[in-house]
Amino acid sequence: MGYEMNVSNLPLIAIVVPCYNEEAAFPFCLNSLMEVVEKLQRSNKIRQGSHLLFVDDGSLDNTWQLISSAAANNKGVHGLKLSRNFGHQAALLAGLSHADADVVISIDADLQDDTNCIELMIDCYLKGNDVVYGVRSRRDTDSWFKRTSATLFYRVMAAMGVEQIHDHADFRLLSRRALKALLSLKEKNIYLRGMVPLIGFHSAKVFYSRAERIAGDTHYPLAKMISLAVRGITSSSIYPLRIIFHTGFIICLLSAVMIIYTLYQKISGHTVAGWASISLAILFFGGVQLLCLGVVGEYIGKIYTEVKNRPLFFIENEINAGSVSNTDATAQAVSATPMTYDTSKKTGK
Ligand code: UDP
Ligand code: MG
Repeated sequence: MGYEMNVSNLPLIAIVVPCYNEEAAFPFCLNSLMEVVEKLQRSNKIRQGSHLLFVDDGSLDNTWQLISSAAANNKGVHGLKLSRNFGHQAALLAGLSHADADVVISIDADLQDDTNCIELMIDCYLKGNDVVYGVRSRRDTDSWFKRTSATLFYRVMAAMGVEQIHDHADFRLLSRRALKALLSLKEKNIYLRGMVPLIGFHSAKVFYSRAERIAGDTHYPLAKMISLAVRGITSSSIYPLRIIFHTGFIICLLSAVMIIYTLYQKISGHTVAGWASISLAILFFGGVQLLCLGVVGEYIGKIYTEVKNRPLFFIENEINAGSVSNTDATAQAVSATPMTYDTSKKTGK
């Protein structure tokens, strides 16, 4: 008897794609990802039933209509519609928590990430890696501003002790157990790029050069980028609070010296009406205090949102999602019950 491949041991893959106003890019994305899945199924690397899960993040255009008609025509396409726009990270988390597979790969809808890397990612997974990061080796297609601001952002994050993979966004593979671990982090102020390295497990990187958007426009204008950066820092680092403490300490020391100097001048009768210096001092300390209060306020705001413990998203509609049943339902949930990882369970590897 010849060698027979045990098909049931192949991993079942779900590719999660958050979409916000992506009607222009969607057809290209669908075709390209379907091709990848079909090719991997044909070459017996992944199991039949592997699928795409498109998450419509409250799009205002026809994105959901396109997703639902693709899902109606093809069992390999699943759709999830959020009740409004919750933002990229929440949409991604919604997809990850609903993905019903042994391996989940997240990718943007605009095909800036190289779909050919998916096969390399699966290879890395089959070699025993639970997390595979897609890393941009070149990003000359991004504008000068985007590149420079991104580099600055990674530097600042590194200086603040936030561990994240340089030039990796949200194109990554997670095994079921890595996903479970990620979903067990119950915080609301989510920054997935900073959270994934925290869960550990064996990881690998695949490199690609970032392409231009296939169609449509970016949904990350400067304001959203700054808000993601602030979230990244405040969700992963208390370094800014420490900087306040250190600055406050240095200013206290300087003030003590100034007080002694002023008293000395007063006693020796050299005091002059110093309107300018007093105003400057008031302005300077007022400014420093406000700045510090602002940073503290940022953290208090984050604590406030964590304490409220609100759900991060609401599902309005589901097509085909959850139709593949071979899995353990806990992987589906961003629920109130914390999930633990049971090492005795089969991981599909
Ligand atoms: N996206 C989303 N919700 C949003 C903004 C963006 O789901 O509120 C999706 C978007 O459709 C895309 C991915 O997140 O699939 C990355 O967004 P984009 O390509 O606009 O960001 P950029 O690559 O320009 O940083
Ligand atoms: Mg993009």
